[in-house]
Parts: sequence; structure tokens; C-alpha cells
Amino acid sequence: MSCRKADSQLVPAQPTGEADENQDPRRPRLTIEDFEIGRPLGKGKFGSVYLARLKKNGFIVALKVLFKSQIEKEGLEHQLRREIEIQAHLQHPNILRLYNYFHDARRVYLILEYAPRGELYKELKHRCRFDEQRTATIMEELADALIYCHEKKVIHRDIKPENLLLGLRGEVKIADFGWSVHTPSLRRKTVCGTLDYLPPEMIKGRMYDERVDLWCIGVLCYELLVGSPPFESPTPAETYERILKVDMRFPPCIPAGAQDLISKLLRHNPLERMTPAQILKHPWVQAHSRRVLPPTTHMVS
Ligand code: AMP
Repeated sequence: MSCRKADSQLVPAQPTGEADENQDPRRPRLTIEDFEIGRPLGKGKFGSVYLARLKKNGFIVALKVLFKSQIEKEGLEHQLRREIEIQAHLQHPNILRLYNYFHDARRVYLILEYAPRGELYKELKHRCRFDEQRTATIMEELADALIYCHEKKVIHRDIKPENLLLGLRGEVKIADFGWSVHTPSLRRKTVCGTLDYLPPEMIKGRMYDERVDLWCIGVLCYELLVGSPPFESPTPAETYERILKVDMRFPPCIPAGAQDLISKLLRHNPLERMTPAQILKHPWVQAHSRRVLPPTTHMVS
């Protein structure tokens, strides 16, 4: 399996994070009959995502349909359960909500917040690069979301444009917690993530902590402004080598303030990386970010 995905299962409308069998017995379990299914939104490795409406109250969601057989074949039941339990507990304007889940004999259905503007990755490929305002706004949104995750001892471990969706006003929503981990000690040793975004400590197989997410958003900031990631190379071996040496060059078009922020995130030593709180206070972020907080929505079922 690629180190990128796994998808989920889950909990009651106001998530408790409890396992399937602990669902509130007074609340009738949702079934596919409770939804009107609309257009497909996309396809992932284990199934498809559809626009859907809860018949009872018209609430619009994204319904992710996963095939149990495929998940079992890859031995990902545990990862799926973990993804659900983590994401169902997170409520933040820049983290995609997982409202609920249900399953039948063959499929698991995840009821997700609908992200109307789709994938950040597609928009980046279309525009080639983003301007300072858009990039700084995304950095503020992600820093705020990471403060929230890290306080809850959750490390995402796979932040990159493909795992970021966009809300109605273009605000970023961190999705795909397939590689995230709840780690009370905040120290792990499993290698995962995507090549261009891998932090040095993960390449070396060292213990790592929540600061891997700070490396990733440093890589992301560079990719958003330049259009390609900083260590991109013809072969994986060369990419690894450049990451380990932090061999990065800034094209002249990158403004000095952004260069300063990126260089303070892409530090080989995780302890030297800027914290999410410092990102929020960084002069370049403060000068250019135009963050707007979306209203909170709840799926009343
Ligand atoms: P995934 O299986 O999570 O990789 O999803 C496949 C594709 O469906 C993604 O690449 C998105 O384009 C789309 N998608 C997934 N979740 C959502 C969502 N909550 N809102 C809108 N589009 C989504």
C-alpha cells in the first residue's frame, strides 16, 4: 500500500469517539436509506465519495463509501478505526468534520463535512502557484489547526496539498487522518508520509514527535509559493539526500518574509523548528494573511 491513505468507520452525530458497539442505543442507526445520493465527488483507493443529503433535514454532506473487502485485504481495519476515532473527536474550522458513520454487510459509510471547493492540490496545479496573501492565509489556518491537534496529542504526519480540502470561502480543511496518530507521549517511530514531504527524522527512522507536522507545513509553504516542493529530484534517493542536507534553494520570486518563515520551519533539528504559535505571530503571516472564520455547522440527526 502507498504510504498515503486509509479511510475510516465511526460514531454518533456529536461524536464521542466510542467504538461502534458503544453507540447510543436510543439513537436509531443511520442507513443508506436516510440519504439522497448526489453526484460523485471523487474516487479514492478504497471507494468513492458522493455528495449526499440527509432526507430528514436536508443537511448536505460528503458520503465516503469504503468496501470492507478491500480494507480487509490490505489489513487496514485497525488504521480505519483509528482514523475514525481521531477525526470524530476533532472540531476545528480548518479540520474536516467526520459527523458519523454506519456500515452494512459490504461497505462502511463515513459521513463527512462537504468541502465545496474540492482539493487544494487541484487548485494549485491549475494556478501553478499561489500569491503571498493566499499562502499566508493557509499558513495561519494550518498553524491554528496544528495548535489544536497537538494539544490533543494528535500528529497528522501527512500534511500535503492532496490532503487539504477547501471550504466555501476557500478556507483550508485538513482531511485524511489515515496516517494520523493519537500518541499520548507524542513520540513515534513508524515511517509514513509522502516522499517530498518526509522530514529528516522519519527518513532516518528516528523517534519523532509532533514537530514532523511543522516540517510538512514548511514544505507546503514553499510548494504553494513556488509550484513545486523544495527537495524535488529525479530519483527518490536524490530527494532523500537533499532532505537530509536540507538542500533547498529559494527562487528570487519568493519574498524575504516567506523565506524567513520557511527556513525556520525546515530545520533539520526538530527542536529548532518554529512552533505553530510562533507561526501565527510571524510578521510575514500577520502582514499577508486574510483568514476568515467560517460559521460552525452541525449535522442534527
Ligand atoms: P479520498 O478517498 O478521501 O481520497 O477522496 C477521493 C476524492 O473525493 C478526493 O480527492 C476529493 O476530490 C473528493 N472528496 C473527498 N472527500 C471530500 C469532501 N469531504 N468534500 C468534497 N470532496 C471530497
